[in-house]
This record gives sequence, C-alpha cells and structure tokens, in this order.
Amino acid sequence: MEHLDAEHLDVVIVGAGISGIGMAWHLRQSLPHKSFAVLEARDELGGTWDLFRYPGIRSDSDLHTYGFGFEPWTDDDSIASGDKIMRYLHRTVDDNDLGGRIRFGTHVDRIEWSTPDARWTVHTRDVASGEATTLTCSWVVATTGYFRYDHGHQPEFPGADRFRGQLVHPQHWPDDLDVAGKRVVVIGSGATAVTLVPALTDLGAQVTMLQRSPTYYMMLPRQDPVAKLLYRVLPTEKAYAWTRGKNRRTADTFYRLCRARPDMMKRWLVKTAARHLPEGYDVARHFTPQYGPWDQRVCFVPNGDFFRAISEGGAAGRATVVTDTIDTFTEQGIRLTSGAELDADVVVSATGLHLQALGGIHTVVDGVPMHPRDRLVYKSVMLSDVPNFAFVFGYTNASWTLKVDLVCEWVCRCLALMDRLGYAEAIAVNDDPAMPTKPMLELDAGYVRRAVGDFPKQGTGPWSVEMHYERDRRRLRHDPVDDGVLHFSRARARVAS
Ligand SMILES: Cc1cc2nc3c(=O)[nH]c(=O)nc-3n(C[C@H](O)[C@H](O)[C@H](O)COP(=O)(O)OP(=O)(O)OC[C@H]3O[C@@H](n4cnc5c(N)ncnc54)[C@H](O)[C@@H]3O)c2cc1C
Repeated sequence: MEHLDAEHLDVVIVGAGISGIGMAWHLRQSLPHKSFAVLEARDELGGTWDLFRYPGIRSDSDLHTYGFGFEPWTDDDSIASGDKIMRYLHRTVDDNDLGGRIRFGTHVDRIEWSTPDARWTVHTRDVASGEATTLTCSWVVATTGYFRYDHGHQPEFPGADRFRGQLVHPQHWPDDLDVAGKRVVVIGSGATAVTLVPALTDLGAQVTMLQRSPTYYMMLPRQDPVAKLLYRVLPTEKAYAWTRGKNRRTADTFYRLCRARPDMMKRWLVKTAARHLPEGYDVARHFTPQYGPWDQRVCFVPNGDFFRAISEGGAAGRATVVTDTIDTFTEQGIRLTSGAELDADVVVSATGLHLQALGGIHTVVDGVPMHPRDRLVYKSVMLSDVPNFAFVFGYTNASWTLKVDLVCEWVCRCLALMDRLGYAEAIAVNDDPAMPTKPMLELDAGYVRRAVGDFPKQGTGPWSVEMHYERDRRRLRHDPVDDGVLHFSRARARVAS
C-alpha cells in the first residue's frame, strides 16, 4: 500500500555497517543523481565494530582486503583493532561526505512492495521514541549483516543460575569489568575466544579456555612487512592495490589448498601450532580438530599472541586450554563431564552469534509475506521473485568486504541499466522448479547449523553463491546485467480503485 504523502527516495539502504557505508559510497559515486538514505537502527555507524567491545577486539582478516577498494588502509597494522577499524569507517564517511545520508536510531520493521506502484513502502520506527514513520522508495538494499544485535547465542548451561560469579557474553561486555587477578573461564575456541585469551591474560587474569573440540589456528603477522615496504616505495593508492591483490591471492590459495588437500593442510596447521606451544603439550587433544580445515572457519592468530598466552602467560600465569564438556555450573564455577572442576570468578560465554537473515525485516510482496528461507539467491545479490531488492552478504572464507564492493557495483550497474532503458522493476525469476538447492551458507559450524534453515537457499548457475572472488568479479563486474534471468518491466499503469 503506497503512502501518497510519504517521502520518496530512489534507494533505501538498511544498515550503516561496513556494507552500508560501501553501498552508499558506490551509489554516490556511480549514480550521483539518485536520492538515497541509510537507515540505521543504532546511534553509531560501524555495526559489528561498534557493537563488540570486549578486550582485544580486532579483525581476523588483513585490512588491505577488509578495507574498501576505494579507500586505502594506511595504518601499519594489517590485522587491526576494533577502534582502528572504527576510525577508518568514520574517515571514509567524513571524507566522502556520507554522514548526512545516515539516519540513526531508525529501525526498519517492515517493507511492502507494490507492483502497480513499482515501489516499496518502508515502515520504520524511531528506536528512542517508538514513533512509526513511513517512506517509499524504488529499491531497498539490505546491508543488515547476518546476526542479531540484541543478543548473541547463549546456550542454556545447566546450573548457570547457581553460579555466584559473573557470566558475560562478548556481545555485551560490561564497561566496568575489571579482570585483573580474577579467574576467568572462556567457553569456546573460535575467533572471539582466541582473541580474548591473550587480551585477558595481558590484563592480569588467570585464564582457562574451555573448548568442546579443537579449532584450526593459523599464525599471521600483525604488521605485513611486504605491505610496509610497498607503502614506503609506492604512492599510497598503488601500494594499497598491490597489497590487496597479494593478500587476496594468498588467502585464496590457502583456502583452496585446504579444500583440495585437507590431510596435508591439517598436518601442516597442527604442526605449526605445535611449534608454538610448550614442549610436551598435548597437541593431539587440544589442537587437532576432527574436521577438515575450512569445514569451519580457520582462526587467525596475529603474531602468535594466543600461543604466547599459553606458553608464557601474563602477570597471573599461563593460560590453560581444557578440552571437555560442561556437566553443570556450580556456585564456584563449572563442573566438567570428566569430573574436573574449574573455579571461576568470571565465565565468558564466547559461544557465538545468533544468526539472522536480512535484519529480521518483515517483507511483504504484493500483500504476500516473503520468508527468506523460501527464496533462492540470485548472484548472491537478489532473491527470487522479490523485485527491486538487493542484499549484501560478504565472504565467509575471505574478507567480507571484498564481496561488498562487487555487489555494490552490480547494484549500481543494474540501476543504471534500468534508468537507461526506462525500466521500473527488476525481478529475478527461476524457471526451473527442479533445480537442486542447498543452503546459502555452507560452513559446518554450530552457529550456522542452528540458523541456516531461516536463510535463503542457493541453486546452480546464477543462483549459486560463489565463495570465490575471481568468479564473482566476472559475474558481478563484467557479465551483462540483462542475462535473461533478471526480468525487467516498465511501470505498469495504476489501476484506479
Ligand atoms: C567480532 C567479529 C569480528 C569479525 N571480524 C571479521 C574479519 O576480520 N573479517 C571478516 O571478513 N569478517 C569479520 N566479521 C564478520 C563481520 O560481521 C563482517 O565482516 C562485517 O562487519 C559485516 O558488516 P555489515 O555492514 O554487512 O553488517 P554489520 O556490521 O552487522 O552491520 C549491520 C548494520 O545494520 C543495522 N541493522 C540491522 N538490521 C536493521 C534494521 N532492521 N533496521 C535498521 N538497521 C538495521 C545494524 O544495526 C548494523 O549497524 C567479524 C564479525 C564479528 C562479530
């Protein structure tokens, strides 16, 4: 239903994280005549990087590939702290005069597409006052990330209510939590746990990492010596582009080797970890995963800080890794299935994210509710049978943002083509109902398995999700937008009511 007195924009971008900022830049750059706004539920930009405030918060990726293609990363740190990433995002917004386009504190609750009007009605809510507003737009681009902001994944630990210490989730780190001299148990072995362990050790905590099963770790230098050399001898833009290309190819080769030769790569990864652990360490038990590398994310360890926390430790001693499962929380800590007890003042539940598709926006197409799980992704940009709607979902096996730039370019190409030919509607139509489908997300991690059923599915050909930059580059940057699968139409005459 169109609201005739509502503000109308060409494009509404939902979310001012790194993807939304990227989309805004591309739109501004390629189609300066388009009116658009970025609607952001929070009071700050940056999404992920503003939300997570736990000690040591940093990227897993190198910033030369995680940064935007158009905005060089100039800091010496290649693996960067959350506050450096926030400064970079603010700089990008300020330098490109995008700040005025972001409407903070604006939650998008519902969007409704009307084919006769060829436009979306966007229902928003002012987060502070609860006041509802409506606007209309020709396109919606969801840059809403992939997880819930209100809470992370918190398993129901038996006996947790008995525990007299503090139970903390990294998504809601208390500002005033002083861990110095405290016994801290970190539950989990993923990227967050492996960041937290050395950071908490450095803050004077006595840290135990409790994992159900081991993870693969790969050492990376926090500062990239080749990048530093390139930045010394080349103009910044060129040094950035070369470093970006180098790192993209290196990460891609590593990923593909892991998939093609899992046994060889497993041996190498485990051996490398063992070299950084104390003599006689039980590597088989604590550092030898049962699955293949990249079945689940490989975690990166900058300058080996995690291994140093285990070998050398901080003021309160070395960090310990325990591989076991939780029987129950007790008043003093955690009793394990083996019968061992871990005493704790603080337990950090680094148990992951609660995934959510498309920012939980309730979407209606011509009066019919649209569930992402019933849709196929088209070129990992649009959804089957949902007109003028794009979403940005980055790589999970490489820097998220590498894909953001490509997706945003494709959206701008599509809009330009529609303008040129006078089209009002673009809709991806799958005419093969027998096409085999599978989940859009293929990581075999618990947090993905728990939610993957709510996400769209992928098929074959243009309906596949590529986790491969070169293939995406061809598909999104070079292949024609008008490929016969994307159907275009001119505005239909409105039927008078
Ligand atoms: C701790 C952590 C570290 C990570 N490190 C890396 C890394 O090193 N490399 C990598 O490639 N990936 C990493 N990731 C993945 C990371 O989430 C992505 O890289 C990237 O930050 C996602 O950006 P985004 O803009 O797409 O989404 P987000 O950063 O999640 O931003 C989405 C924005 O949309 C807003 N929003 C959502 N729904 C609505 C709505 N309905 N209405 C209005 N606003 C809405 C949110 O408030 C938020 O601001 C990490 C993730 C985490 C949690």
